Amino acid sequence: MRWLGVAGWEIAFDGRVLYFDPYLSRFDYRLPGGPLVPDPAVVDRLLNSGRLAGPPELIMISHGHWDHMADVPQLLGRSGWASKTIHTIGTETHRHLLAAMGTPAARLKNYIHATGGEDLEFGDGAYRVQVIRSLHSQSRGYGFFAPGTRTAPPAAPASITDLVEGGTLAYQVTVADRLKVLMFGGTNFVERELAGLRPDVVAISMTDHSSLHRYLDRLLTTLGGPRYVIPVHHDDMITGFDAPGLAATVDRTAAQQLKEAVHRLRLRTEVIEPEHLRPLLF
Ligand SMILES: [Zn+2]
Repeated sequence: MRWLGVAGWEIAFDGRVLYFDPYLSRFDYRLPGGPLVPDPAVVDRLLNSGRLAGPPELIMISHGHWDHMADVPQLLGRSGWASKTIHTIGTETHRHLLAAMGTPAARLKNYIHATGGEDLEFGDGAYRVQVIRSLHSQSRGYGFFAPGTRTAPPAAPASITDLVEGGTLAYQVTVADRLKVLMFGGTNFVERELAGLRPDVVAISMTDHSSLHRYLDRLLTTLGGPRYVIPVHHDDMITGFDAPGLAATVDRTAAQQLKEAVHRLRLRTEVIEPEHLRPLLF
């Protein structure tokens, strides 16, 4: 597994590559008007230097916000990958947003429209993907950035606010009988939807959760005390992969919060602190 920054992952096994929320451009979202400016050169550099593997055979989308989905159209549109089948999973809204951003129609034919609850098999049983109904983060005022849904492709998105949330999904990938990986893109979850899941590795989103009831305690308990947990969504989302200060933008208190929760609950869970693009082997 390779952390792609924000909530993103590359998962590679048995010659296969999967992406979850692959946001790589890391453009400055704070500029006036929040212009949406994906940067294909970043993806080229990562692929050419071997710091990202591709093409993926599956892209999983947690929700429609730019820091999760803005690069999916350019990834699906890469000319060098045109002959490869790439499935994409997300909600109806995410599909409409991808179409509005210019995703090639041929790619959208391989779009898997999910609502949560799907239990899918890929690669003739090589791996299984469970799509899990989930929730977006809710910050202090109980709201969140750019909520909303779309029932048809809107005008071409120009601003980050045009990429609405459109529902939030989590994903559990089971690699044969070897490993179960559960990934979140939002700092929230539906407790009942996770009942019975026993992932080995959980990527836990760590944006503000102060308005949620016992976020980490409930999550770790519901999942039965996973073997490994990894904090994500705790970097600054804009510092480039080659910038010397990148590691320092990662909020170290996220791992600390997880360690404290593990201690409080008397679990044996190991907290792994991810570094951008550095492979984690399981
Ligand atoms: Zn979001």
